[in-house]
Amino acid sequence: MSNYELPDVYAGLGVRRVINASGKMTALGGSAVSEEVAFAIAAAARSHVSVEELATRAGAIIAGYAGAEAACLTSGAAAGIVQMTAACIAGVDQVKVERLPDVEGDRRHVLLQTGHAVSFGAPVTQMIRMGGGRPVTIGWANAVSKAQLEGSLDARTAAFLYVQSHHAVQEGMLPLATCMGICHSRDIPVLVDAAAEEEIGAYVAMGADLVAYSGGKAFGGPTSGFVVGKRELIRACRAQERGVARPMKVGKEQIVGLLTALAAHARRDHARELARNQQIVDYLIGSLSGLPDTTVAVAWDEAGRAIPRAVLTFRTAQPGAAATALLAHLRNGDPPIYLRGHAAGLGSVAIDPRPLDEADVPIVVERITAFFREGKVSV
Ligand SMILES: *Cc1c(COP(=O)(O)O)cnc(C)c1O
Repeated sequence: MSNYELPDVYAGLGVRRVINASGKMTALGGSAVSEEVAFAIAAAARSHVSVEELATRAGAIIAGYAGAEAACLTSGAAAGIVQMTAACIAGVDQVKVERLPDVEGDRRHVLLQTGHAVSFGAPVTQMIRMGGGRPVTIGWANAVSKAQLEGSLDARTAAFLYVQSHHAVQEGMLPLATCMGICHSRDIPVLVDAAAEEEIGAYVAMGADLVAYSGGKAFGGPTSGFVVGKRELIRACRAQERGVARPMKVGKEQIVGLLTALAAHARRDHARELARNQQIVDYLIGSLSGLPDTTVAVAWDEAGRAIPRAVLTFRTAQPGAAATALLAHLRNGDPPIYLRGHAAGLGSVAIDPRPLDEADVPIVVERITAFFREGKVSV
């Protein structure tokens, strides 16, 4: 590859290394990319290129991976939601594109199920508004009926957005296929936010019109993203690069890094990765069982992906307070350790094996054990 050694830039800045046992978190820098991806990014940064030509070629390559008609690059899945929305509202009309997020006329409603109106760090509904859409939530946070969706479709509807995510409510929502059947019978395009998913072709194969992914989550790429889908709508997504998508632009480094990561992803040995993750989880469960007033067990991903995690649950009088205290103890140590805290309020913390370096696993065990040894769990 190269004889050039990558410098330890974070240490040079006096910024601490973090042990990530949490997941592909934007706040922790998304993915730590492979050496191959890192060198590709460095190489891309070293020369000029027609970004237009590069983006067009990259779109064709990504469309090939997805089995889609077309694809385009975005700065992330959040930008993908903005661009998908804008594409459905302004199309390729340059006057409309330049006017966004202001819209003339009524056709700007973007429907989504109430249990999908989540924040991933910023609200999904705000991304819709940035693209000129007006978010319209249908049904209730725990229940949506077909009649509620059918009754919400009218001449003002520009698109329907489905959020495929562990952030979303998993029970009581209409499945994507049902939404697609209803919307397509009325010629309403169906958009999917599949930010953290890794099934690059799955939603297009089901018939979704546009699907947004993060490049920096499941695919192990740099901070980046892409949208796959129907040719005309992808053209309209790209038209937004001369409008609302300009402040979300993608550089040559991200494009090349993402393509390198996607090529590696296509070669990945999923069975081997799963076995590696299971081995780490088994080790964690073995090492952490027997801590006072807790249970530890494996839990599979709540959004249905093949990801095992070790979950430590407090059986104390105030389990939520104990779990929150453990998270803070780990985060405030050196190096800071981040566990998965979605269910901390209920007294559970999870350890995600995917972003963990094998060498860091015993450190995580020792620091959790120290929390108990030092009697921090008094709550
Ligand atoms: C992470 C995430 C996003 C944002 O993705 P970025 O690539 O960080 O812009 C959007 N939606 C969901 C459901 C997410 O999990």
